[in-house]
Amino acid sequence: LSEKLDKALHVLKGHGSINEVNVAETIKEIRRALLDADVNFKIAKEFTNKVKEKALGQNVLSSLKPGQLMVKIVKDELTELMGGEAAGINLSANPSIILMSGLQGSGKTTFSGKLANYLKNKKTKKPLLVACDVYRPAAIDQLHVVGEQIGVEVFSDRDNNDPVAIAQAGIAHAKANGHNVVIIDTAGRLAVDEAMMTEISNIHNAIAPQETLFVVDSMTGQDAVNTAKAFNDVLNFDGVILTKLDGDTRGGAAISIKSVVNKPIKFIGTGEKMDAIDVFHPARMADRILGMGDVVSLVERAQEQFDEEEARKLQKKIAKNQFGFDDFLKQIQQVKNMGSMKDLVGMIPGAGKAMKGMDIDDDAFKHVEAIIHSMTPDERTKPSTINVSRKKRIAKGSGTSIQQVNQLLKQFDQMSKMMKMMQGGGGKRMMQMMKN
Ligand code: GDP
Ligand code: MG
Repeated sequence: LSEKLDKALHVLKGHGSINEVNVAETIKEIRRALLDADVNFKIAKEFTNKVKEKALGQNVLSSLKPGQLMVKIVKDELTELMGGEAAGINLSANPSIILMSGLQGSGKTTFSGKLANYLKNKKTKKPLLVACDVYRPAAIDQLHVVGEQIGVEVFSDRDNNDPVAIAQAGIAHAKANGHNVVIIDTAGRLAVDEAMMTEISNIHNAIAPQETLFVVDSMTGQDAVNTAKAFNDVLNFDGVILTKLDGDTRGGAAISIKSVVNKPIKFIGTGEKMDAIDVFHPARMADRILGMGDVVSLVERAQEQFDEEEARKLQKKIAKNQFGFDDFLKQIQQVKNMGSMKDLVGMIPGAGKAMKGMDIDDDAFKHVEAIIHSMTPDERTKPSTINVSRKKRIAKGSGTSIQQVNQLLKQFDQMSKMMKMMQGGGGKRMMQMMKN
């Protein structure tokens, strides 16, 4: 029994750290936030499983509080999932050809203008916009309006209905007029269909662009993923543009798309105006997604309550010499709630190795609990009052022997003394461990 109590104490020290209970709670919050943010269910599940694994593998004595640690793990993983670093666009060729692809209404024409404006403002770039949406005269007009707004030349040919030929003529025009970037705006349809795919694929093959960008409306949520996959299968595009991320649009599509097509998101559109363009930063997007429903503070609050309140109460009791069997029982209960003994022991740094080969069963606390249950409330708060006749009664009531009762009392006494001692001199470390 003394061995088992030793183990329990180890577990108690570890308790309040990253453990099964607060991880499970946290994971639930995170998964909900991801689903709220429109992340695909399967991806959300995979993601949270990964986070759980990482969290449980963390050292209990880490200097970060568990809440902070969890949030950090989630942020890091989310950032990683969305590509880690911001990805630039390749502008090394002269001229560099950038081809826009995507469904109708996704924001291709608007983004073409934004990108042209963004590059023009870099001074070293002289972009040309090329209008290859030949199906609606209004589409050509729209690009001209945009070009005028930002002071960028637009190449179009209203008498030609072959987008491949227009794209090629546009590139020739760029070369002849010193444009070092050519942005080709194309037609989209309301849904993925063969004709659109054939057309964009023909343009792609004919002009061999340095950058093929897939433009997608982030408000389309789950559909965005399917569309991205369809376009990627045909174009093997280089990057994703996530538009309409202004207002409270959810960013979940960013995670899902990146996971499914494994291409970087390069820019985001955040409004209808020409300057509403931002380089995509995975870390910032992680913040945004986690900010949905304020999951960060939720997680932190849940964890801090769980850990700190308990630790504070306990600290007070120990200081006042009031730590009794009821508290002990509560601790055991909590420990049991956290999962199986084997799992728990595995979470204690170094313990896994030390206890290898030992028989750790989940009934480790059965006798202890039975003995405590057989004590009166007074006996639980004041163990010193437990004399021989009381011990006999307790042993009988709990189906244990007087030796077992004695052992528990002795062990409890030692534990109380140690706690008290830790409170005084080296107590900070112990309390830190309990709080962590
Ligand atoms: P296209 O059919 O792919 O060329 O899409 P358009 O560029 O014509 O855009 C479709 C609509 O979405 C237009 O009304 C745009 O003003 C709007 N739009 C495009 N990008 C954004 C954005 O980032 N935010 C918002 N709020 N609206 C956008
Ligand atoms: Mg358009």
